[in-house]
Amino acid sequence: MSSIVVMLMTSICGVVLSDYVWVHLCCGGLMGFIWIQSDWLGHDSGHYQIMSSCGYNRFAQVLTGISIAWWKWNHNAHQIACNGLEFDLDLQHMPFFAMSSSLFSSLRSYFYERKMNFDAVTRFLVSYQHWTFYPVMCLARRGGTRKKLTRVIARGKI
Ligand SMILES: [Zn+2]
Repeated sequence: MSSIVVMLMTSICGVVLSDYVWVHLCCGGLMGFIWIQSDWLGHDSGHYQIMSSCGYNRFAQVLTGISIAWWKWNHNAHQIACNGLEFDLDLQHMPFFAMSSSLFSSLRSYFYERKMNFDAVTRFLVSYQHWTFYPVMCLARRGGTRKKLTRVIARGKI
């Protein structure tokens, strides 16, 4: 976790102290790397693996930005039915991505409790998923944050 703090400080100092565009671009790339690393730390703390106690792991989740309620809701479903197309939400990204050709005939998502149709819009978007992957993933973090906030506000049964 200390390496993330060092990288974060390096990125912030690079942006604040430099006027060079390349320094800012490198700091942006470093910040993206920091986000990925902090998500994995959040994941591992959700499994109570990085600290010595549950309380410390929960504190680490707060630092990494992972909502434990959201994480349990999603990740338990993923772990219970790992790689099951109809149950594992980590494989259900239509209309943007299709993780298997089995999805070309639509999908019944038991996690989202709805049918994900492979319609004309989905067919179009999936046919370009090799180009849209990175732009969509840039926005996915924002969507994840919205889902986490919704989960906290809704206070639903977990
Ligand atoms: Zn996991």
